[in-house]
Amino acid sequence: MVGDRHKYSSKYPFSAIVFCGNCGNIFKRRQWNSTNTSKKVVWQCKTYIMDGKDACGAKAVDEKILMNAFVKMFNKIYENRQSFIKTLTENIEMIILQRPDSKEAEALDKRIEK
Ligand SMILES: [Zn+2]
Repeated sequence: MVGDRHKYSSKYPFSAIVFCGNCGNIFKRRQWNSTNTSKKVVWQCKTYIMDGKDACGAKAVDEKILMNAFVKMFNKIYENRQSFIKTLTENIEMIILQRPDSKEAEALDKRIEK
């Protein structure tokens, strides 16, 4: 990962690290345009997107749930994997900084700093 920072600092930090547990393809970020205020961001299996649910029945994952799962994982391995964590948390911060509401970002910061 060292020396490859550019790649991992891409716009969407999960792009290269989230894979489908069903078929092994990558997960892609998608924005669902729902009727009113909320534009829900989900991640979906690429096979599902391209070929439909017959090809892969993996369900879409809410980005917030995905992020929570990563935070939990970070906390778990924080002690002995600090350099690894640093790169990934920087990427996480990038995606959060793009969000208009900073409440979630603050909460995440506190958890990471622990
Ligand atoms: Zn799949």
